[in-house]
Amino acid sequence: MEIRSIDTVRQSVPLIKPFKTALRTVHHAESVLIRITLNDGRVGWGEAPPTVVITGDSLESIEAAIAGTFTPLLLGKNVLAYEQLLQAMHQSMVGCSSAKAAVDMAIYDLISQLSGMPLYKFLGGYRDRLETDFTVSVNSPEEMGEDAVRYVKSGFCVLKIKVGKDSIEQDIERIREVRQRVGSEIKIRVDANQGWQAKEAIRSIRRMEDMGLNIELVEQPVKAHDIDGLKRVTDAVETPVMADESVFSPLQAFEIIRRRAADMLNIKLMKSGGIYKAQLINQMAEEFGIECMVGSMIESRVAVTAAAHFAASKKNITRVDLDAPLMLLHDLVTGGVKYDGPTMILPQEAGLGILGVKPFSMGAV
Ligand code: MG
Repeated sequence: MEIRSIDTVRQSVPLIKPFKTALRTVHHAESVLIRITLNDGRVGWGEAPPTVVITGDSLESIEAAIAGTFTPLLLGKNVLAYEQLLQAMHQSMVGCSSAKAAVDMAIYDLISQLSGMPLYKFLGGYRDRLETDFTVSVNSPEEMGEDAVRYVKSGFCVLKIKVGKDSIEQDIERIREVRQRVGSEIKIRVDANQGWQAKEAIRSIRRMEDMGLNIELVEQPVKAHDIDGLKRVTDAVETPVMADESVFSPLQAFEIIRRRAADMLNIKLMKSGGIYKAQLINQMAEEFGIECMVGSMIESRVAVTAAAHFAASKKNITRVDLDAPLMLLHDLVTGGVKYDGPTMILPQEAGLGILGVKPFSMGAV
């Protein structure tokens, strides 16, 4: 079960509507796809999007890490000793978590194929379906209200509202408008993507509480490095606070858990460097009674299928934010996780269940 070859190819798919947060506007879902082939011809798939403002990873740096560092480390190695391979990969380079995630998910694809189980069963098999939220990009309150109504009409019961772009007053108006348009039954999560200062976050979340906007949770209100600020917000408001950009590694998760700087964690494979480290974060959080969400960057159904397998396998992952593939104009993936409105149905084939990825079959390697 030796690794015979590792290939990558870039893909770029237009989004149906630009994805806008406090940090960036995205028009295309770009990524590096990876294919790891064993000497028996078996293939494992992975993907890494460039999210320079969050992970620091670009298409070029992802390709360079895979070709220059990880490939020489992995070629000819037995994939069944995957703990050795993943340990070596994580020790070989600081950062570059997205490239690590792509390799990690392809290796997990292969070992779960060899085990004869779908990956979510190989990892724990807690559930076989998930319900994702849908993200409302930050725009004018009117446009956000219209978008929210459209998503609710297509079956979504949980919305994630992006804010943190200009003034707090505008943000409160955005959330008020969405709440008014969708009614009280729909769950609303708010994501400020680091857009607020601690004091203004406290003031605005308290206002939302007083206005009865019924916010399920607020994600990453303050700057990623500002753990003191995050703790101040968490301590000062009733609404649960979730850390996202503040948590990449298990060590960062440990610090937030130890200090109770957030009530929940958002795990993304592109931040943790894949499933191997994501499991460590989730296990630590579970031990301390902190629930986790699994989210994604702007990714296609390759990486999101891996994230869905991980999310479905664990009891402590109680929320998922895996709507990115639904924002893409084309789907280049055969097999993998399927969507029925907000319901994500895990594939039953062994491994990730991905049967093909178009850029590879078109011979673009
Ligand atoms: Mg977030």
